[in-house]
Amino acid sequence: MTWFHNNILLPICQPDRHQRLGRRLRDLELFDRMQRSQQTAIQERRIHAVLDHAYATCPYYRMVFDRIGFRSSDWHFGEPLPLPELTRDLARTNVESLRSRGFRPWELRKAYTGGTTAPPITLWRDLEGLRNKVAVQYHLNRLCGYDQGTRVLWIWGAERDLEQHPSWRWRFYEEVLLGRMNCGAGQLSEASFRNFLEKLNRHKPEVLYGYSNTLALFARWLRESGSAYHRPRVAIATAEALRPEDRLALELTFGCKVTVHYGSRDVGMVAAECSEGRLHFHPAACYVELLPAGESPTGPLYRLVVTDLLNYGMPLIRYDTADCVQFDETRCGCGSWYPSVTAVLGRAVDHLVLPDGSLMDGAPLVMRAGRTFRKIRQVQIIQKSINRIQLRFSALGEGAEVEQELAAFLGDMEQAFRIPIEWDVERVPEILRERSGKLRMTICEVPREQYARECRSAN
Ligand SMILES: [Zn+2]
Repeated sequence: MTWFHNNILLPICQPDRHQRLGRRLRDLELFDRMQRSQQTAIQERRIHAVLDHAYATCPYYRMVFDRIGFRSSDWHFGEPLPLPELTRDLARTNVESLRSRGFRPWELRKAYTGGTTAPPITLWRDLEGLRNKVAVQYHLNRLCGYDQGTRVLWIWGAERDLEQHPSWRWRFYEEVLLGRMNCGAGQLSEASFRNFLEKLNRHKPEVLYGYSNTLALFARWLRESGSAYHRPRVAIATAEALRPEDRLALELTFGCKVTVHYGSRDVGMVAAECSEGRLHFHPAACYVELLPAGESPTGPLYRLVVTDLLNYGMPLIRYDTADCVQFDETRCGCGSWYPSVTAVLGRAVDHLVLPDGSLMDGAPLVMRAGRTFRKIRQVQIIQKSINRIQLRFSALGEGAEVEQELAAFLGDMEQAFRIPIEWDVERVPEILRERSGKLRMTICEVPREQYARECRSAN
């Protein structure tokens, strides 16, 4: 049935995302079978094409290239690109001049990045770029046995991905035709875990797919609950780094293969874990540079800087993902030369504990509340107790605007918590990474026993 899904069903039902999907997937398979020299030649051509397109059609890049006197022909494959990094701050403040004039506005699709410590950024994608990104994501899925039509349970916190098409037709399409059952994981409680369990046992998925953190919480809950449950064939953890103890919890609970995919809303899904436990970045999708970023107790850290080779609607050249990684220069034991890292230490997001004892995924909560930020650059939430939160933030400039944004943010957070919160607000020049390399957006210091108790008494 997968041929039917990739070549007929998906292209007809969602042409914006899936037109010629089957052909794109075949091209990616072909790419993986090529000699390394052919693969790097294709990657080099794609980098030059993105550079030329960016210079010709984006005011931002024209200004940057001209300022340093750079032309695409000056650059040779294997060298670092001699361009300044595109930070999130720069991308936020230059959205319009980063948008390619090579497309008419209706030919582009808008997306928002998922901020890790910072507010979201608007992104523009051309349709071909969007389709190629979707194909890369599906290609990585297929490498670990998850093809379209495979029964899968998605445990996903981003509401906008899950609930934008709640009609029965959409559910028929998703659940019956695609075999995809969704579990909203924005807020977690005993009741939501029971709901996941019911879906797991009823749908009997071959694949479990979701946020690393949430999958691990569910796995632990399953073991503690003593319930009988279905075991999938593979669990794919994504969106956040998978801690070793969480991987172990997943392996022990499900007794299945556990693997990690890396991506972000900015650049899409671009890397998958191999049999040796390294994450390999697909060279048809991106060009990766690792910049030294200091030492950690477990070794040197590097900042992950990515050039997106697929999106022409708003080219991202040397885009700073704000993720830190570790890497090993030796060739990977799996035999692949694709650039790899041994660990992503980027995004660490704790769940926050609400007064009724349920858990709320910190990232979407903070992103939603911070949607209107203009002056505030970063926030970090440290939950000390159920109703006491330390808020650390950095902002540009002084004055009433910062105060207003801050007041609105605190109001929105209190609405989510539904109780008055004792705030301890601290402005800092910048929210820094921890020594381990992690940049933490939400930190929950409420003892686990305490919220487990409140969770039980609330149910
Ligand atoms: Zn490998």
